[in-house]
Formats: sequence, C-alpha cells, structure tokens
Amino acid sequence: MSFQVPLRKNLLGIKPYIPGKPIEELERELGIQNASKIASNENPLGPSPKVLQALEKALSKISRYPDGGAHNLSHALSRHLGVNPKQVLLGNGSNELLVLLGQMVLNPGDEVVFAEPGFIIYPLVAQLFEAVPRAIPLKDFAHDLQAFSKALTPKTKLVYICNPNNPTGSMVSLLAVEAFLKVCPPSVLVVLDEAYYEYVEEKTYFESLRILDKYPNLIVLRTFSKAFGLAGLRVGYGIAHEDFAEIYQKTRQPFNVNSLAMTAAEAALTDISHMKKVTALNSSMRGLLLDGLVKLGLKPAPTQANFVYFNIPGALELYQGLLEKGVIIRPMGPNALRVTTGTEEETRNFLGVFEGVLKAKGAHPK
Ligand code: PMP
Repeated sequence: MSFQVPLRKNLLGIKPYIPGKPIEELERELGIQNASKIASNENPLGPSPKVLQALEKALSKISRYPDGGAHNLSHALSRHLGVNPKQVLLGNGSNELLVLLGQMVLNPGDEVVFAEPGFIIYPLVAQLFEAVPRAIPLKDFAHDLQAFSKALTPKTKLVYICNPNNPTGSMVSLLAVEAFLKVCPPSVLVVLDEAYYEYVEEKTYFESLRILDKYPNLIVLRTFSKAFGLAGLRVGYGIAHEDFAEIYQKTRQPFNVNSLAMTAAEAALTDISHMKKVTALNSSMRGLLLDGLVKLGLKPAPTQANFVYFNIPGALELYQGLLEKGVIIRPMGPNALRVTTGTEEETRNFLGVFEGVLKAKGAHPK
C-alpha cells in the first residue's frame, strides 16, 4: 500500500538538505581506507581530551533524563559569555534553534530575508512555515545589508544574517550589522548566526553580545559543532532578550539537548586552550589554502571561517574528479566549490590532488 495521507501543501516543494558525503561511504565505494573529508566545516583536531574524559564518566548515567532546565550548561555559558543565564537558549545544534525561531514568529505569508548564496536552512524554514523567502544576493561574497534594509516590508518578520557567511566565509563588520538594526523595525526578529565566531580574526567583527541590550529583537546564535569539535553530539546556543528566552523555554521540547551533549559542552568550556589550538591551526591552513588556490589562478573569497569558497566553471565535475581520488569537498551548485580547512596533511593533499584534477579535466585556469 502506498502512503496516502495528504501532506501540508508547503511541504511538497521542499528539497532535502544534502549533507557532505560520509567518508565511510566513499571508502566503501573506492575500496580505500584513507579518504579525506574536508566538506562539512568540521574540526580536524576533534574535541578536547577533557571532553572525552567527561563523556566517559557521564555514560553510566544515560538511563536518566537530562536536566531539562540545563542549569549547569546555561550557567557555564553565562560565565563564558558574560551574559545572564536567563538569556541563554540551548538547541539540538544551532540548526534546531534556526527552525524553532521560525516556528515561534512566522505566520503564513510573512517574509523572511536572508542572503544568497547562504545557509540552505534559512529558505527551508521559510517554506516549512508557509512564509515567503526573500533572498538577497551577496555583494563581494558578503551580506549586502543596505539591500537587506531596502528589502524590509511590513510583512517582514524574520531576518537571518550569517556572519561569517556560509558558504563564502566572508564577513561584515559589527558596525554594518548595527546600521541595519537601527533601520530594522523592532517587530522583526533578527537572527545573527555566528556559527563560525571562534575562527574570526578581523577586529571589526566583535562584539555582538554587547549590543543585545539595545536591540531586544536581536538573537545571536553560536555552536559547539565547529571550533569545539562536537558536531556529532548536536549542541548549539542562542543569546537573546530574557523575555524572548522565556517563551522559547516554554515552546521547545523539554529535553531537546541530550545529557552527553551538555556534559561535553561544559567540559569543552573548561579547555579554551584546546579551542585556541583549533583556531590557530585553522588560521594557518586557511592561509595555505588561499595561497594555493591563488597560485592555481583562482580567486577565492576573503574568508574568516574554517572554509574557503571560489567560483569555478565545471564545479560538479571537479568535485567528482576529487572524489575519485579520495577527497571529499563540497560543490555549491555548478559554478562554485567550498573546501574546509583540514590538518596540514589533508590541506596539502587537497591542493596537490586538485591541481592534478584541474589539469586532467583541462580546466586549469592558468
Ligand atoms: N549555521 C551555519 C551558518 C552553519 O554553517 C551551520 C552548520 N553547517 C549551522 C548553523 C548549524 O550548525 P549546528 O546545528 O551543528 O550547530
């Protein structure tokens, strides 16, 4: 028998999120064991050893429900960030927060403003709640916040600003974000997605949390998935106005973040020096990737994240060519590629293999 229950109409056009190809899948397909995945903006050094120790201890307690109020992690984050624990919202990855925020504010027909190319979840949220996606093209690979201002209408309810932007890695200054907030009505929820916050070095980027008091409609999102190396455990967080956070606590699932994830996140915050090692490695590998790509005649976007983006014709074929050599990166449509920084070995290996693939496909830009 086929499935016959009629679905909500807005679900029909939804395209599934396509994650990076799993490394085990490629190894099975090629019959090899040393494939490298630099496709999903993961952290090549993994979590702190303190996280692993804390997880071992916590394993015996998994028959208990987690602390639904997340007391320890919210307090640890409040100390780490210098905010009130009541301002902290936790999610099953920041991805869950992106969706729940949409669920909290969107009515059918509302408009959602975001940049394109951007993080694919933003238009998906709009579609999920029958809102209208308003994609604003990037300018010089980063958000064009003046164009965002012009795109605001009385129907705009939600704005996503991804800073640095995924997939380009380019950022806008906090001044530019604030200039937008000044013209954005306080009835529009502005989600500032800072998933790659820890990797940023450019001084004009910081400190979004300091302006939260001035803009009660602003929420800042960050995650333990990237620089803290906990992508598999799914824990992200938001920092928002207390009133908004209170409503969030009422509407989320009671145990949306599992106990191991909370234990790991708390332990990760006790080892900031490990996270700094991760960001230092990223900084040098980002430089290596940018230099290597420029030497190949490409023009990578300026990046402050843990990945590099560049336009190139025949991107899908090049992606395929790299896969055949055991290297997984991420195609971003037919004319662009995104490569995550890896270990030094992975990064150098990618550059060497990519040069070969470009030559073999006759696509060498030089
Ligand atoms: N925002 C951005 C911009 C991202 O790139 C990602 C991960 N790809 C997320 C949010 C979600 O991250 P997570 O759910 O793992 O916290």
